[in-house]
Amino acid sequence: MKIGIIGAGQLGQMLGYAAKSLNLECIFLDPSENSPACDVGEVLHYKFDDLDGIKQLFSLTDVITYEFENVPVRSIKILDPNYVYPGTMALEIAQDRLKEKKLFELLGIPIAKYKEINSHSDLLHAASQLDYPFILKTRRLGYDGKGQILIEKEDDIDNAWIKMQDQLLIAEKKVNFDYEISAIGARNVSGETVFYPLTQNTHKNGILRTSRTSLENPSITKKAFSFHSKLMSKLDYVGVLALELFIKGNKVIANEFAPRVHNSGHWTIEGSKTSQFENHLRAILNLKLGNTSSKEYVAMENLIGSIPSKIKQLNKDFFIHDYGKKERPDRKLGHVSVIGKTQTEREKKLKVIQEILFNEAAN
Ligand code: AMP
Repeated sequence: MKIGIIGAGQLGQMLGYAAKSLNLECIFLDPSENSPACDVGEVLHYKFDDLDGIKQLFSLTDVITYEFENVPVRSIKILDPNYVYPGTMALEIAQDRLKEKKLFELLGIPIAKYKEINSHSDLLHAASQLDYPFILKTRRLGYDGKGQILIEKEDDIDNAWIKMQDQLLIAEKKVNFDYEISAIGARNVSGETVFYPLTQNTHKNGILRTSRTSLENPSITKKAFSFHSKLMSKLDYVGVLALELFIKGNKVIANEFAPRVHNSGHWTIEGSKTSQFENHLRAILNLKLGNTSSKEYVAMENLIGSIPSKIKQLNKDFFIHDYGKKERPDRKLGHVSVIGKTQTEREKKLKVIQEILFNEAAN
């Protein structure tokens, strides 16, 4: 079987490794040269909106998927929907924060108060309705905290409007959350569904830094899985889906979902019986989904901007992933996962990584 993957970044690369372990071949489509996935399969060099390229990928493979949510919907719509997963409905909604919020509302999933913004006066009105602080966000193409401006007081409004006015926007109340989690699950073509243990995530400047298993709170787990299930059923979803959530006390508030494998699920490579990458492939091929239980206590730390040599020299207790990308500030270049028999052991290992990264940043 051949899998066509739109996008050849690190998520494509890790899907490619999982495919190899299942004896599957991957062909990627990506305009960039030397992308991370080029070491696991052929890359067709076409732009993502080049329909000839997409058709060629389709003709060479048995099923198509994608590794990022900004694939042009038109590129997916021209294909037979029985061979492209996740489907266009999930993709279209995930690309627009307003559509995403409306879907959450329709499904009764709690979200932060928000307002659609189409003018300066909408923004003033939103300020009176939401109260400060709130966040002005682009509806489309935002990632890793990009396309967001925090508005803390009336004086911030005009500047934010000048910077963002050319784009479709929403204003969203800043949630004073206790912590953030993600619920990652997979659903195959027949509707079989599995969930990974909830992952607790720490961000810095909007970028994910650390993910830890496992949140042992039955009430939050029940709500998170129920919201995730509702989403997957409504979207008739196939593949891995990550739902990002804010937690305040026992309240579970949805932020956004990603119709793909997710950075906060990288720990599953070594930390779970079946990785999110393998389960994504199993889902789109309609194979039985693999066991998602986690091994003891797992954590993942992202390597952002650079990979210090001291990280590369860590022993085999540290699972180091280098995506082979050029160094650039704020760029995700790799990650390290650790497993502990106890939380204390896991935290001790995590601290080794974090101290290296902290010292590197300080120098
Ligand atoms: P997003 O691109 O919407 O996932 O935002 C990236 C990160 O910014 C989130 O993981 C949060 O840490 C933070 N963030 C986004 N929206 C909000 C919000 N409404 N309230 C508080 N923090 C937020």
